[in-house]
This record gives sequence, C-alpha cells and structure tokens, in this order.
Amino acid sequence: MSTQTEQNAPSNSTKSMDDIVALCRRRGFIWQSSEIYGGINGFWDYGPLGAELKRNLKNAWWQDIVTCPPDGPDGHPLSIVPVDCTIIMNPTVWEASGHVGGFNDPMVDCKECKARFRADHLADLECPLKPSKKAGEHSACKLTEPREFNLMFETYCGAIRDEDAKTYLRPETAQGIFTQFWNVVDTSRVRVPFGIAQIGKAFRNEVTPRNFTFRSREFEQMEIEFFIHPDEAEQWYRYWRDSRYAWWQAIGLAGNNLQLREHDKDELAHYAQEGAGTSDIEYRFPFTAPGFGELEGVAHRADFDLKAHAAQCGKGDKMRYFDQANNDRYFPHVIEPSGGADRGTLAVLCEAYTPDPDRPSKVYMKFHPRMAPIKAAIFPLVNKDGMPEVAEKLYKDIRREFVVQFDVKQNIGKRYARMDEAGTPYCFTVDSDTLSDQTVTVRDRDTLSQERVNIEKVSEYLRERVGG
Ligand code: ATP
Repeated sequence: MSTQTEQNAPSNSTKSMDDIVALCRRRGFIWQSSEIYGGINGFWDYGPLGAELKRNLKNAWWQDIVTCPPDGPDGHPLSIVPVDCTIIMNPTVWEASGHVGGFNDPMVDCKECKARFRADHLADLECPLKPSKKAGEHSACKLTEPREFNLMFETYCGAIRDEDAKTYLRPETAQGIFTQFWNVVDTSRVRVPFGIAQIGKAFRNEVTPRNFTFRSREFEQMEIEFFIHPDEAEQWYRYWRDSRYAWWQAIGLAGNNLQLREHDKDELAHYAQEGAGTSDIEYRFPFTAPGFGELEGVAHRADFDLKAHAAQCGKGDKMRYFDQANNDRYFPHVIEPSGGADRGTLAVLCEAYTPDPDRPSKVYMKFHPRMAPIKAAIFPLVNKDGMPEVAEKLYKDIRREFVVQFDVKQNIGKRYARMDEAGTPYCFTVDSDTLSDQTVTVRDRDTLSQERVNIEKVSEYLRERVGG
C-alpha cells in the first residue's frame, strides 16, 4: 500500500497559504462562520469535505486511544476510558484550576490604529497601518504598557445577569476530566496507571485570532489525562511524548514538517513544577515556515489539578487515591497529551496540498488514506446504456462500509479533477466493458495509473488500500 508517509511530501515552505485557503473555500473544506454577514473573527465552519476530514481525524484519535489503546511499556494495552463533560461548569472549577486568576495574555493597545496585540508576539505581528512594519515599529504607533486580558468567555446562567450567575465557556476540556476523576475511579474498574480521554469544544477569547483556523476562538481539543504514581512520572512522560509524536506521523504528517520540541524552563505553564517535562509536537505550517506551530502539548501536570480541586471543594486529603494493593494513599500525578482537532485538520490539509501543473485541476490533495474525506468515487462513463444503473448499484453496495460519492455529471476528466481536489484516493468507472465482463476501471489519485478490477472485488480492493 502506498501512503503519504512513505512518499516525500513537498516542502511546506514553498506552499502558498492563500492558495490552500482558496481551495478550502472553493471545495467546501472550511468557510468563515456567518460568512453572509461578513463573518466573525476567529470562528470557522467546516463544509461537507471538511466535516468528514475533521471527523476522520477525531475518529482516528478515538480509535487509537479509547477503542484500541496502545500497549504500555509492559506490552499490555493501556487502560483508558472516555468521558463527555459539559462546556459550562460550576465557575468554582476555574478558580481551582487557576484560570480565573491566571489565564491571561499580556496585551498592548495601539492608541493610533486601535489594534490590540499580544505583548509577547509583537515581533511576529504586522502593523495594521503599514504591514511591511511590525507592530509598534511604525513612527505613528502609540503602544500602551502591557495589560492583562482574561481569555475566558463569560456568560450567565439563568434569568438574572449578576455576578452570582456568571459562568464561563470552558477554555480547555481537561478540567471536566479532573473534576470527574473520583466518579470514574468509583464506577469503573480502572486503577493507576490509567487514562481518561475526551474530545470536545473549548473556547478562548484569543486577542489576535489569525492564521486561518490555527488560532481560533472556538476550537476542539482531544485530551488525555493519564494518572500515574508520582515516582513514575519521568517514564510515563517520555512514553506519551514519543507515542503521540509517532501517532501524528502515522496519520500522514511524516517527514521534516513535524518535530518534537522540549520546552525551555521559562516556557513552562502555570501548573508546572520544577523539573517537570513539557514538550510540544509541532508542525511546519506554510505561515510559520521555516518555523513551526504547536499541534499538541505533552505535559507533566504533576498533582496540581487533583489537589487543587480536592482543596477547593473542602475535602482535601480525604480525596487522595487509595492504592489497595500497596495500602498507599496519594494524589496521582498526571501526564497530559492535549491536541487540537482543528490545528490537526489544518496540518493534514497543508500536508496534503500538492500542486501539479500537469493535471487539469493543477493541484491535488494527497491525504493519507485514513484521513481522506471521500475514500472512493463511482462514475458511469456516460449517462446511458445501462451504465448509471450498474454504477448506482455499486455505490449502494460499498457506501455501507466506506464514505463514497456517486457522480454522473460532466465529462469524466472534470469528475476526476473534482476528486483530485477533494483528495479521493480511488475513482471507479463503469464503462461499456463492464456490461460484458463485469470489470470497472480504477484510477489511482497519486500515480494516475488505471487498472481493471472485477466489480465484485471493489470493496476488497478498497479494504486493502484504505482500511475498513
Ligand atoms: P498556544 O501557545 O498556541 O496558544 P497553548 O499552549 O495555549 O497554545 P494548550 O493550552 O496546550 O495550547 O492547548 C492544547 C491544544 O489545543 C494546542 O496544542 C492546540 O492544538 C489547541 N489549541 C489551543 N488554543 C487554540 C486556538 N486558539 N485555536 C485552535 N486550537 C487551539
């Protein structure tokens, strides 16, 4: 099986982000939210192809973390259970987690152009008055001193909008996991070491949403909190860092566009302890090239969160985990691999984008087969002579197992071109020979080669190449 992992992906330094955004829009991968009203900064919708693509990424994560967790260092499958927690939680959660006090970005405002910038990103941001200059470098810039800006979206629960009714949209999915840790231990058979996994929306009122979906105000996270004995933190940290890096490679982000970077001491998050490991799995997006942007963080969060919630809810040490086998009570430490489904989807899109001047479409999307939004297309060569009926029957047979598309419109070249832009790995065409010898033509997206296969063997053909 030929996958993108084995091939040399074109360098992202030479890909144009404008072209990628244009393709996403034209082919229905990603659109601005509320576009007909001019959009809203930092919010994005996924169209038909994008919704399938993002779902494939989340499904692959769920499959590889929850349904079939990887083997641990002892060669046995890890124990990882899922939860699905709410977006709005008791606001005390965010006091305990440190978000109410500490989830701030230092900001500067420009009194001249009224733009607001993250103080620690000034060197990367354009001056709105003169984009060739960086923020603050134009002679007209009048930047204020840095001020704190809380990134949590506030809302109110109930009819009365006062301080007592104030709540927040969660800025991360992790806290739902921590607050339900004790229920999970009490109701399932998990024992440390084990993980709790969740996929869900998170919201951050980012000051400068930018770079397409990379920095959005509403996005989805795929998070694991893996609970361990404190003495085993280093070992498990290394395990998850390497395992998550390998996972992103396995879904097609191989090659030198992906890197693992250990954090410097001065980058550690508010919960980090001295000596705690944190690393980022980073991707070279066209807009960061030659540099990289974070896809997933892997952090040793120690026992900060469990201890903080135990203290805040007033039960303190009584909430320590009890290890029956060793008659030991402690707050487990946590290794947290926290990835973004939207940044992941964007990386997969950027990686797949492959200009090819020799094709009618001039570009094709070389998705890893597991990520491809449509696995196969079924075409009748012409719209007569019984071909549409045979093609429709084939489509009905294989759509039970695969996401496939049936297309009868326009000439075959145009249909191939559409599927190249959608990144569909295989196109099956029913032609006049099909009616006599029961074979169809299959065209390979990447090599453009064509061969004939028996119509009865189409499912098997796909199963071998794109998985079940
Ligand atoms: P950054 O430094 O880029 O703001 P972060 O370190 O704050 O990211 P985390 O809090 O570690 O991010 O969140 C885990 C993951 O959630 C990130 O690796 C990223 O994939 C995703 N994520 C975080 N913020 C955003 C955002 N504004 N838009 C899209 N995805 C995001």
